[in-house]
Amino acid sequence: AVSRRIGQVYSRLLDMASHFDAVVDWPDEDIEEFELENYERQLTEDRDTLRTLLRTFERGRVMKDGVTCAIAGRPNVGKSSLMNAILGFDRAIVTSEPGTTRDTLEERAVISGVLVRLTDTAGIRDADSEAERQGVERARAAAGSAMLVIGVFDGSAELEDGDRETLALIRGSERAVAVINKSDLPQKLPEKELQGFFGPVIHLSARSGEGVDKLCDTIGEMFRGEPVPAGEVLTNARQAGEISRALEAIESALEALETGAAADAVLTMTEEAMAALGALTGKNARQDVVDRIFERFCVGK
Ligand code: GDP
Repeated sequence: AVSRRIGQVYSRLLDMASHFDAVVDWPDEDIEEFELENYERQLTEDRDTLRTLLRTFERGRVMKDGVTCAIAGRPNVGKSSLMNAILGFDRAIVTSEPGTTRDTLEERAVISGVLVRLTDTAGIRDADSEAERQGVERARAAAGSAMLVIGVFDGSAELEDGDRETLALIRGSERAVAVINKSDLPQKLPEKELQGFFGPVIHLSARSGEGVDKLCDTIGEMFRGEPVPAGEVLTNARQAGEISRALEAIESALEALETGAAADAVLTMTEEAMAALGALTGKNARQDVVDRIFERFCVGK
């Protein structure tokens, strides 16, 4: 199903390129004039098709491998407790001693129908021992590559430097949720400190479990999405790479078209898109253009 869609887009681009080339190369033949505007709708549709395909790549990754999720926060905010609350059993070591979770732990859980691979990271802070320092580095790396970062804050304490770092981390990540933990205690954390974070903010108590369901629902909503038929999911990273290359080229072509660029400039970009898609389907764009010209137009006969 994926190659069929790619093939359709390729064939439409081929129509456009061969029409243009035929007009340029055979000016004396009776070929319908090439009007760039007539292809704007087609290019827009092709752009949307490729965008939809690329979105299935993320969905495919979610279905196959699960959502990688890092739980981040300074020591003692309750990361391990939260992980345990989510998993419903004791896998991570829960302790009141800061810095005990030296390394990262990974657990899989199905949260609201979505497979989530949770990593409890070592507390973000300036570590004194070498082992701890490495743990902190790994935590930052885990958060940097995760599809979702849960930034945990201790609602019963004032904001500290480590929290500011967590905040920067969740602001810079692809998708994030801020958890204000220890809601069973009086809140001291000034909420306005989370300014600049636009994702969901959830108050909960990892200790009592109150509010954990709300966090799970939020995660489910973020990743569940519409089910996609298995055959239409893009699973291959190389394919996804070529498709995004084609998509970028079509987006540039549309931009150029809107700003009134010359037809040959727009065509150069669509040919770049064809080359990217051709690399996936084993086609040679140049040769195909020539063939299509002879198929469609009565030229050189
Ligand atoms: P981590 O260092 O971020 O992993 O934090 P822990 O999960 O080890 O928790 C640090 C301390 O905070 C422990 O004493 C926990 O029992 C306590 N704690 C964690 N969550 C809550 C909560 O929701 N309410 C209260 N009152 N204490 C909590």
